[in-house]
Amino acid sequence: MSQPRVRLVPSLARSPRHARLLRNRLRRWVSPYESGAEPPAVAVMMTPRALAQVAEHAANDLDNEVGGVLVGKWMVESEKREEVVLVESILRARHVRQGSTFITFTQDSLVALNDELEANHPRRLMVGWYHTHPRMGVFLSGYDTWLHQHFFPESWQVALVIEPHSTACGFFIRTADGTLDPQRYYGFREILAEGGRSEVEWRNLAPSAPAVADDGGSSP
Ligand SMILES: [Zn+2]
Repeated sequence: MSQPRVRLVPSLARSPRHARLLRNRLRRWVSPYESGAEPPAVAVMMTPRALAQVAEHAANDLDNEVGGVLVGKWMVESEKREEVVLVESILRARHVRQGSTFITFTQDSLVALNDELEANHPRRLMVGWYHTHPRMGVFLSGYDTWLHQHFFPESWQVALVIEPHSTACGFFIRTADGTLDPQRYYGFREILAEGGRSEVEWRNLAPSAPAVADDGGSSP
């Protein structure tokens, strides 16, 4: 397999940070595909800021695909030894070739995103990427899968697909043996903002009742 020409993962990211996960209030959004499924190699947690940014970008163009990268941290929860990626913000891809049914990051877009990450988000990683599928549903196309495997090859890098018309989304995450299912997506954990309101009411995912750090760390 040929190596990608752009390296998105700085050499400092050979192992996850050790962290006690946040004591924030969390809501888990559960995918219909999760029951009985092989667990993902990492769990995804999103901040209200990152969710608001993704939702805003997704709503920007309801006819053509838009996308970008997910910025955050790769962590291992100290007590449960569970790996988590925390998505804290996004970077919109600008130099993309896009149409109603495809998006592709160009070499220029990846170089620009890498520069932007280093300049504005020191000590943060590209933990994955996102793009929209207007009126197409939540899945990874053959090309999406190729792009993910070539440019986001790490076990902890994830792909988020959003369908803005039906307010649906899902994360495509490798399992421990590296398998990536392009159809069966996972949900995520939302860190709730003040007041406990969700940023987006996803229609294809089932929300849990808010809990304090239900998955990360012991109860106080
Ligand atoms: Zn796609």
